[in-house]
Amino acid sequence: MTAQLEFRDPARARALSDALTRTVAAIPDKPVSVMHVCGSHEQAIARFGLRATLPQDLNVIMGPGCPVCITDMPEIDEAVALALKGVRIATYGDMVRVPGSAGSLADARAAGARVDVVYSVAQVVDIARSTTEPVVFFGTGFETTAVATAAVILGNPPENLSVLSAHKFIPPVMEIVTDMPGSRVQGFLAAGHAATITGSGIFEPFVARHNVPVVVAGFEPLDILAALLRLTEMIRDGVAEVSNMFPRCVTRDGNRNAQEQLWKVFRPIGGRWRGIAHIPNGNLRLRDEFAHIDTRKRFDIDVSSLWQHAPSSLVRQCICGNIMAGIASPSDCPLFGRECVPESPVGACMVSSEGTCKIWHQYGGVPNLRVPDDTTCLRCASPARDGGVA
Ligand code: SF4
Repeated sequence: MTAQLEFRDPARARALSDALTRTVAAIPDKPVSVMHVCGSHEQAIARFGLRATLPQDLNVIMGPGCPVCITDMPEIDEAVALALKGVRIATYGDMVRVPGSAGSLADARAAGARVDVVYSVAQVVDIARSTTEPVVFFGTGFETTAVATAAVILGNPPENLSVLSAHKFIPPVMEIVTDMPGSRVQGFLAAGHAATITGSGIFEPFVARHNVPVVVAGFEPLDILAALLRLTEMIRDGVAEVSNMFPRCVTRDGNRNAQEQLWKVFRPIGGRWRGIAHIPNGNLRLRDEFAHIDTRKRFDIDVSSLWQHAPSSLVRQCICGNIMAGIASPSDCPLFGRECVPESPVGACMVSSEGTCKIWHQYGGVPNLRVPDDTTCLRCASPARDGGVA
């Protein structure tokens, strides 16, 4: 509890915010745009209202860091097709509601399919052990969750269990986002939890290739503010390095044992990330040695009937891909908070607790921290306009 309070200390947060304002002011080309690639960072930024404390010339953009949002529609279609065929599917909670070409796993369940929501892949093993019917684990998420899937696959799982891997690997997408025409990204905040596995060193080749700084950040408010300060200092000084601002959990080399398990089971291949692009080496698929547990090898998955459904006009208006590429915000979407709300999401970004649209809907993206009848700007202490900042 004490440690948590230390990382949420208001006086230190204000000092970091002031230092950030001075640093950004010293950067000639403004606005300064940096990107984080992690739904947990967006949650913390929105939940603690950090955007209201940032300098106006600093844009902190959420990139493709929501694993549910970037799971591609054909991957969801594979799980839905199997479910409709009578195969029992187990997956993480948010995945159930993400629409595929012709509905979600929740829709399949409503039509009589067996779809289990699990909190961990270990739970899927328990489900498989409790039955003789085939059980498919629809495995989604980045390298952090892929490690848990790999551990189960290496742990002699029940024969009726197979894995439909939609796992993704984050570093390659940073290359694509940086190279996108019109990209404004001048630096990245990297997710501290993923880096506990991969190590901060995994970003060094990216930095060397693109001359763009990367700072590994934790998830408390002071972690994020300190990491943003370090990142903007490097941008100001024209320095491109990897900086680890989460040293209480992350090392340069990461967890070698977990990395060994990950790459023993998975190989990176190119594939689409929903709404973004084809990402070379961005998808994790089972190696041939594990064909016996690979759902795609074990079942004939026919998704053609699902693809006869044209997406609705609402779905066609969804700009989730632009939001994840960092070139739009949820408030740019005409459906945000109107036709598209968490109770009836149109796009994947409104489904997951790590999706930008859902987070902004829940907390507000740039909150108004003005206290009624208080005319003092929260940022600079001068008289405030509407919105609480001068
Ligand atoms: Fe898509 Fe809904 Fe977000 Fe609009 S508000 S971009 S429709 S998920």
